[in-house]
Amino acid sequence: MREEASRAWREVDLNALAHNARTLQAALCSGCRLMAVVKADAYGHGAIPVARRLEAEGVKAFAVACLEEGIALRQAGVRGKILILGYTPPEMASLIYRWKLIQTVADEDHGRALAAQGVPLSVHLALDTGMHRLGIPAKDHKALQHLYELPNLNIEGVFSHLCMSDSLEAEDMAFTHTQLERFYGAVQWLRAHGLDPGEVHIQASYGIWNLPPQPCFWARAGIALYGVFSKDATTGRTLALGPALSLRARVVSVRTLLPGEGAGYGLAFRAEQMRKLAVVSIGYADGLPRCLPQQKGEVLLHAARCPMVGRMCMDQLLVDVTDVPCVKPGDVATIIGTDGGQVIRAEDVAGQCGTITNELLSRLGHRLPIVTDWKSHVG
Ligand SMILES: *Cc1c(COP(=O)(O)O)cnc(C)c1O
Repeated sequence: MREEASRAWREVDLNALAHNARTLQAALCSGCRLMAVVKADAYGHGAIPVARRLEAEGVKAFAVACLEEGIALRQAGVRGKILILGYTPPEMASLIYRWKLIQTVADEDHGRALAAQGVPLSVHLALDTGMHRLGIPAKDHKALQHLYELPNLNIEGVFSHLCMSDSLEAEDMAFTHTQLERFYGAVQWLRAHGLDPGEVHIQASYGIWNLPPQPCFWARAGIALYGVFSKDATTGRTLALGPALSLRARVVSVRTLLPGEGAGYGLAFRAEQMRKLAVVSIGYADGLPRCLPQQKGEVLLHAARCPMVGRMCMDQLLVDVTDVPCVKPGDVATIIGTDGGQVIRAEDVAGQCGTITNELLSRLGHRLPIVTDWKSHVG
């Protein structure tokens, strides 16, 4: 059975993704390369098809959140560098080595414990420049010195992460600049003491959108690569990126409600006049926020915007199609994407539910097959 015959699916436009990768690469300093962040199944886009396509486009490095994600890419034949951004238990050192992955050193203790495993490891040092999540405090020169003296750790890079770079408020931008100063300060201190920082990197997507190009070796792009903003807000630079993902589901039944009848759990929808409802086969277990119908959620059907109504179910949702009489079982509803001249953007859906697209997209569940070679289902 082809995926498009199924109840709901994700369409991933790998050409859009390749275009975004080229656009981001062109926005970086000459000498700075794009590291594609493909953690969380490439923000719901499918880490394996995404990484394979980007590798074919010349992308040389990938970032994942954890060991398992890195191994899965290697098993799928990805040959580029793979940096694990998160913590890996030191006892897993032999797997990091066997699969030729690069481990982030989360702090001084983590570095010592990794070194004590007796396995030669490629690592990047995370520096804490003010986010206080992972990293060696950028000013802790003693800790840096110690890490360079440890056996088994081959320090190939040094990086940090910006936690305010999505904001253009003066105070927030000042903090971002403080983070940059601390980062480059630590890099300079290493060089001045004969310690090679290797490949340095600090920008993620909003660092690319809101900062001038940085003199780094890599820039780690996640959400921008997928062609969407985390939320609607102005950015310092405009880049011609386009969304790569559409989310579609089938209409499975159409029914008529008489005045006074209700529908769904709790009969949360009540028909005041006669209403036609379509049952669409996607629900919160597929990763949609359950609050969406109450937050003005819509789907596109026959290029018309139709409101979600009632309570979202685990596997289905209800849509009012009274104004679109041609809707019938088998029709394709668009939850994210375009249909005719209409569009529902991931930013719209995330914003309605008070979250960011990163969360919305990364939660799209494994029950939704990924289709990369669809013909149009719509219209
Ligand atoms: C997730 C993550 C990124 C990618 O962030 P985007 O904002 O999606 O580009 C980059 N670096 C680190 C350390 C991350 O955890």
